[in-house]
Amino acid sequence: MCICINCARVDRCLTYNQVETVHEQPHLTSNPDFDPVHPVINVNLYDYGKGMEWDVVGCDSFVSEPGRWSRLRPGELLPN
Ligand code: SF4
Repeated sequence: MCICINCARVDRCLTYNQVETVHEQPHLTSNPDFDPVHPVINVNLYDYGKGMEWDVVGCDSFVSEPGRWSRLRPGELLPN
């Protein structure tokens, strides 16, 4: 699970914006303005390389705010 969903910076973050692009999900913002320090991303390939999934598993800029993504997208399922 991507740690960004519980990060206070998720709706400003350039890296999370890229994660949304890879996952073909709607963006929380079209103008991300925060460049995080040392995000660590696990990349999983599936369907013999036809699909790709990114999970941020570490980040020096992480600021804990449990449920941040859910508050921004009430009623929606958490992204994979
Ligand atoms: S954990 Fe890092 S990469 Fe993820 S939203 Fe927060 S600042 Fe961005």
